[in-house]
Amino acid sequence: MTHIEVILPIFNEVKNIPILLERLDKVQKELNEQALLTYLFINDGSEDGSRELLNQLHFSRKDIRVIHLLHNFGHGPALACGVEHFKGNIAIFMDADLQDPPEAIPEMFEAWKKGAKTVVAERASRSENNKLLFNTFYYLLHKVAPTLPPVDFGTHCLLDVSVINRIRTLKEKTRYFPGLVGFASPKVEAIPVHRLKRVEGNSRVGLKGLIHLAITAFLSFSSMPVRFVSILGLLASVTALISGTVIVAIKVFTSLAIPGWASMMSALAFGSGIQLLCLGIIGEYIARIYDEVKERPLYLVETLLENGPHRSLSLENSDLMPKVLRF
Ligand code: UDP
Ligand code: MG
Repeated sequence: MTHIEVILPIFNEVKNIPILLERLDKVQKELNEQALLTYLFINDGSEDGSRELLNQLHFSRKDIRVIHLLHNFGHGPALACGVEHFKGNIAIFMDADLQDPPEAIPEMFEAWKKGAKTVVAERASRSENNKLLFNTFYYLLHKVAPTLPPVDFGTHCLLDVSVINRIRTLKEKTRYFPGLVGFASPKVEAIPVHRLKRVEGNSRVGLKGLIHLAITAFLSFSSMPVRFVSILGLLASVTALISGTVIVAIKVFTSLAIPGWASMMSALAFGSGIQLLCLGIIGEYIARIYDEVKERPLYLVETLLENGPHRSLSLENSDLMPKVLRF
């Protein structure tokens, strides 16, 4: 029987987990004998009772593995932990807030049976706020990063174990998950889904996190930002050359007074603004290069609960230590 492991990053989702599991259990019924669903919850430092709930679920059910991270590392690192610890034939990645409908799993599985190795849930429509922001982001990203799969998707996808194994070889710290999936896949198949609103609470990633993710996507899959700096520098030089020539010509050939303080101050302010912008863009690259060379792990595991209540492993006593620290 095919083993599907569903990988669920969790940060303060205590109210969503029971609803999510109820819906996933219905999917298991639908899949019947064809596939076995099990769950890998990555608890990313929750402080709302999710930890205790996941411990209880692990002790009462055989199909749940739980990894408690040491503290909150973020959505991306939690996904990286899922990639590293996945076991099975197929991985399904999805958010735990039910924005990604579990009911899409059977359709993804059908595509896998027909030979697809990567099936992503394309966000054909959205119920979220900030629709314009998301659409503009994907439009710009796909314009400047042609190597990315031209599909609007986030986390929700099915990956064959062969694709997971390829992603495991990608050691970069600046990780844009859909980009890594596209890079490691022979072909990306998409099924359209409607992106729903979060069932309970507000976004855990938040606007700040989304902006960080957007910058990561642009910097790691396109050299457009740094080219933009060069183009801006070139334009500024050409403008300076033309205006300098005009000013010299006015001075030499006419008796007109060169306009003074106001124009000089605005040119100065404009020039400094552009310089700071360019420094900021270069600084973003340097910050990421620094992250890469530090080789600090993306996440640290505190406890790993697996193989049923009697064989739960505490990380300190397990041979997983070197494997986890490899990131
Ligand atoms: N999440 C996480 N760590 C974080 C933030 C979020 O593991 O630091 C989880 C969260 O519990 C959810 C998924 O990542 O299952 C997506 O988060 P969220 O819904 O906040 O993202 P959004 O849909 O707003 O992009
Ligand atoms: Mg969400």
